[in-house]
Amino acid sequence: MVSRIIPVKTFDLVIFGGTGDLARRKILPGLFRRFLSGQMDSESRIIGVARQNLDCRAYRSVIREAILENDSGARDKIQCLEAFLTLVSYNSIDAESESGWDNMACKMRDGTIHAYYFSVGPSLFDNIAGRLHRHGLVHEDVRIVVEKPFGHDWKSACALNRTLARHFHEHQIFRIDHYLGKETVQNLMALRFGNLLFEPLWNSKYVDHIQITVAESVGVGGRGDYYDQTGAMRDMVQNHIMQLLCMIAMEPPAKYDPNSMRDEKLKVIRCLDPVTRNDLVRGQYEKSAISGGYLDEAGKSGSTTESFIALKARISNWRWAGTPIYIRTGKRLKDRASEIAVVFKQTPHSIFAAGSGRHGNILAIKLQPNEGIELEVTIKEPGPGGMRLIEVPLDMTFADALGPSDIDNPDAYERLVMDVIRGDQTLFMRGDEVEAAWEWTDKVVSEWENMNEKPLPYSSGSSGPDDSLMLMHRDGRKWREIRA
Ligand code: NAD
Repeated sequence: MVSRIIPVKTFDLVIFGGTGDLARRKILPGLFRRFLSGQMDSESRIIGVARQNLDCRAYRSVIREAILENDSGARDKIQCLEAFLTLVSYNSIDAESESGWDNMACKMRDGTIHAYYFSVGPSLFDNIAGRLHRHGLVHEDVRIVVEKPFGHDWKSACALNRTLARHFHEHQIFRIDHYLGKETVQNLMALRFGNLLFEPLWNSKYVDHIQITVAESVGVGGRGDYYDQTGAMRDMVQNHIMQLLCMIAMEPPAKYDPNSMRDEKLKVIRCLDPVTRNDLVRGQYEKSAISGGYLDEAGKSGSTTESFIALKARISNWRWAGTPIYIRTGKRLKDRASEIAVVFKQTPHSIFAAGSGRHGNILAIKLQPNEGIELEVTIKEPGPGGMRLIEVPLDMTFADALGPSDIDNPDAYERLVMDVIRGDQTLFMRGDEVEAAWEWTDKVVSEWENMNEKPLPYSSGSSGPDDSLMLMHRDGRKWREIRA
């Protein structure tokens, strides 16, 4: 396959939190891959900023190690890696103090794109935004990237939006959700709006229900303190899963451009009904033969934070009334697997003999571990023995169809960082979208907070609490198997 890499303009990118986990694991390895692909030119500059007292040489060595650790192919490209590192420099700045900013300002060149990546906790956003302003670093063409968590609830998200709005226009603020950078999620747009085949069936007349599963096999690991304040609903559903839900349920936008897309996503969120207690299952993993329990791993005895949530959402609009959306996500589940499954209704009448089998179609959009789209269709089982029906997948795993995922198939972070440089906000959340998502999330959270209930225990390595199976069974449906 011939790839068409469109180089971005020369940029100066400052990464606040440049020594942190995200910068080392995702942002800088991603930029290296964009450099290798030729999308980032050798005139561009990356400036890491953090509190540590490092000189440029020491920082480059931190980044060299990080790239070698996080990019298996980098060892074979040492010369390119060294060339990339010459574009990287470091500034020691405590975001809460005034020193160091002028040094950094000197590195920002006229005539380049200026981007500031806030890869730090949200408590520092105000400090950084204010100081960028005071040091004359904010102008019309500047853009900033902010990471999740964008608030803890509706009130804090509104406060963060107000803080950023004091210093930047909305078109300069890139709220990142890396799920939107996944190839498959964008392919969902191509599939829905680039083909005639699916859209006429994409409604409650033909779709029985939709399942969204984001299953992780890992536990809370070293994030116990953060996770215990957050839980599965706030950590996964409010942001990543909400974005998937919007992409699957939105009306066709007039254009594939930032505001048309985000207007349509916002309408979906506003049509979401509140979730009632009966449609909600919270769980917390217990110790099993394969791992410890949540309370031990998070180091929080007595915690009632959920590490699993399943819920039935309803979208009250003409397209989706009557088609439930079942959502589940959790940690320490049997496999790491994420997918959206659109389960179509059965044919209205079967012409085949009883016992020949009767199935519906399922369109599975797979996000993890491998990205791809699979359409289950019903065919005749080959061979003699009469008309027996079976389901077979029409499979489009991207790695098979388009070649191995390499430099030309960027991962979510690197694609999104390039979009920031291009100034394209299509795959970033707008402030009103985030607030609306929190408004709905807050109502779900208050459903269980008011009841003072503990989450249900489930075994590490299982599919979650049995009650989550019941959520489907009682509607005559079942979850698809969690399978990597
Ligand atoms: P981290 O704790 O590993 O790194 C934090 C960085 O911020 C370090 O470089 C530290 O030096 C810097 N820092 C802290 N206080 C500072 C100050 N006063 N002045 C200047 N620099 C300061 O955190 P992380 O995992 O890299 O995450 C960064 C942000 O991204 C957080 O908001 C996190 O929630 C979010 N995030 C992280 C991940 C991930 O995979 N790590 C994923 C999604 C979102």
